[in-house]
Order: sequence, then C-alpha cells, then structure tokens
Amino acid sequence: MARKVAVVTGGNKGIGYAVVKELCQKFNGDVILAARDEARGKDAVEQLKALNLNPVYHQLDIDDTSSISQLKDFLHKEYGGLDILVNNAAIAYKMASTTPDAEQAENSINTNFFGTLNVCKALFPILRPHARVVNVSSSAGRLSNIPNKELQKKFLVSNLTEEELCGLMKEFVSDAKAGLKREKGWAHTNYMMSKIGVSALTFLQQREFDKDSREDLVVNAVHPGYVNTDMTSGKGVRTIEEGAEPIVYAALLPPNIKSPKGEYIWEDSKVVSW
Ligand code: NDP
Repeated sequence: MARKVAVVTGGNKGIGYAVVKELCQKFNGDVILAARDEARGKDAVEQLKALNLNPVYHQLDIDDTSSISQLKDFLHKEYGGLDILVNNAAIAYKMASTTPDAEQAENSINTNFFGTLNVCKALFPILRPHARVVNVSSSAGRLSNIPNKELQKKFLVSNLTEEELCGLMKEFVSDAKAGLKREKGWAHTNYMMSKIGVSALTFLQQREFDKDSREDLVVNAVHPGYVNTDMTSGKGVRTIEEGAEPIVYAALLPPNIKSPKGEYIWEDSKVVSW
C-alpha cells in the first residue's frame, strides 16, 4: 500500500510549524513541511530533525499556481495521493502598516481566500478516501463579524456555490477599492473578510465531499485561539503547541466520523456555531 502523507502549508514557523511537529509525532505517514521560502523551510526541517523528527520539505507559495501544481505533481508521483491537508498559510497586515487599504484588501483576499482555494482545487482531486482537510480560519472568520445582515444572508444561502462565494469576495475587494467597505457593511478588517471566506468555503466543500464517490472525506474550519506568533507580534496568549491542538485534532479525526464534519471548531476543539 502507498505510504500515507500529510501536507501543512506555511509550515516553516508559528502555528504551522507546531502542527508539523505534532503530526510528525502522531501521524503514521510522511509529513510535508511546505514553505514558500526554501531557506526558511529547510531551516525549519533541520530544527525538527534535531528533535528526532523527520518532516520532508517542499516548496509551496499559495499565491503561485505553478508552485501549487509542482507540489501536486510531487505528491502524485511520490505518494499517489494525499491523506491530510492543513491549509494554514496566511497573511495579516499590522495595524501600523502603511500599505493603502485597497491593496491590503486585495492581497489579504488573494492569499488567504483565493490562495487557499487554489491549493484545494489542485489537491482535492488526489485526496484519498478518509482524507482530512483542515482550513485554518480564525475567530475573525465568524459570520457575525459582518454587521450588515443582508450581506450575512448571502453567505448563509444553504446551497451557496464556489462561484457565488468567489463573487462575494471579489465584490468586497471592489468595494474596498471604491472606499465603500463601511458604507456597504462588510466586516471591519480585510483579514476578517478573508477568514469569513475561508469558513464559508469549508462548509460548501463538505457539501461537495458528501456527494463525492470517494468515501469519508472530511473538511473543517478551525480557530486556533490567540496564539503567540509573528502574526500577533508575540502578543497571543497561547503557545504555538496549544494553537496546533485543535488543528491536529481535526487532521486526525478517526474514520467515518459523523461530527465534526464541515463545521467550525474552536480553540478547545469543540464545535461552535458559525
Ligand atoms: P505566522 O505569520 O507566524 O505564519 C504564517 C505562515 O504562513 C508562515 O509560514 C508564512 O511564510 C506562511 N505564508 C504566508 N503567505 C504565504 C504564501 N503566499 N505561501 C505560502 N506560505 C505563506 O502566522 P500564525 O502561525 O500565527 O498563523 C497561522 C494560521 O493561523 C494563519 O492561517 C492565521 O490566519 C491563523 N490564525 C492565527 C491566530 C493567531 O493568534 N496567531 C489566530 C487565528 C488564526 P513566511 O515565513 O515565508 O512568511
């Protein structure tokens, strides 16, 4: 039988690094530490090797479709499929950033939402039966962060399609460019909108999985808590290992689980309403 394999995007530091570490200890298969920068990725692999763990580095920039497709080819050739995908890579601008807001909106949605979506589109066809996908969302990715109730409803449509969701994300970016974000009642930050998109994507992906001929495909969105990483400028209250806990829990859900499945998991690994 082919060797099992897990991929963690943005695995070179922060929560992703801790997820790689824990999966190396708990998952019976290879763990790919995917990172966009080769030096940072290989350095992280060396740090883990010093702990007697054995992750495999592979380059992945989720903004770059050719990089995504090279990872897919590698997985296909070396493993013949994929068993765990942790979509962890993301960006967040600092409050003090001087990048114009419209540019921040576009880049946040492009990386966190469309980058994640592109990784899924490339890798979902090679998921094996019983595969587990974890989309790292955030408390920022909660629907109630959108103040406009009419907009909220658009995300709640029970048969929302990927195309419609992409349309909403593009509409947000276009409103940001026109300076209409507040007026239209979108969430207050670009990061929030990107993570609301990731959460909504998760629910529609599970609906597709449920119709898939491959048995028992499960995807969940996870909020890891407020974690001490570069993203939070060291202010988070949880360690990266604590942040990794609910993500690893969702990545290692046992076969044929009924719940959590297509749900929103909080830092304590409990399902919460979106
Ligand atoms: P960090 O900033 O510490 O790490 C982010 C990781 O994502 C880095 O490895 C970074 O790579 C990588 N990355 C960014 N853009 C890309 C890209 N285009 N392609 C590939 N990799 C990329 O963040 P955290 O560890 O804090 O965050 C991890 C996840 O958890 C994110 O999805 C974040 O939104 C989420 N989260 C974090 C919270 C927290 O409190 N920290 C709270 C809620 C959610 P590089 O080193 O090259 O920049």
